[in-house]
Amino acid sequence: MTVSTREALARLREGNRRFVSGVQGLDTLLSHTRRTELAAEQHPFAIVLGCSDSRVPAEMVFDQGLGDLFVIRVAGNIVAPSQVGSVEFAAEQFGSSLVVVLGHTRCGAIAATLNDLRSGAHPSQNVRSIVNRIRPSVEALLATDLKNDEERLMREAVRANVRASANHLRHGSALLEQLIQDGNLLVVGAEYSLETGEVDFFDGAVDAAP
Ligand SMILES: [Zn+2]
Repeated sequence: MTVSTREALARLREGNRRFVSGVQGLDTLLSHTRRTELAAEQHPFAIVLGCSDSRVPAEMVFDQGLGDLFVIRVAGNIVAPSQVGSVEFAAEQFGSSLVVVLGHTRCGAIAATLNDLRSGAHPSQNVRSIVNRIRPSVEALLATDLKNDEERLMREAVRANVRASANHLRHGSALLEQLIQDGNLLVVGAEYSLETGEVDFFDGAVDAAP
């Protein structure tokens, strides 16, 4: 029951449309009745690497149920070895054909990184390990005119960080690279809007456009 990349992306788009309209799909509601069945095996059709932000739960914003999504959440949707390993595990074990890196507007981890770059604040070593992963993709933006426009700067920084994470997954793993080359996996970048509830698949989703 492998779901194609195109079908997986269509399901997420439809689910997000339902979420925005405030309705829940029947499959999502009924998935709870499949709990016992799912205890034996799972076939998540997509992998989501999202931010830990309480306002961006992947299952809710895509209106999916039990067993549908393999979700990895970490502040700033960064890619460190354990995230690559989690994606490799799911892609290999379950044959999921789509990976979505899901960033979001007003991300606190991105704001913290910008603050750190500007003021030289000193977060703990553990927080720094996150900031340091975000830093390379947003640092260059501070050298442009964007530095005078906080709102645009944040918006571009969020997207730059999503692109960097997606590229890291595309090229930071021999296993994932092979799956992509064989046409069995697509990694896309998306941004969730806290304001509208909409997910914009802005990076890498062209090939699988509906
Ligand atoms: Zn965030």
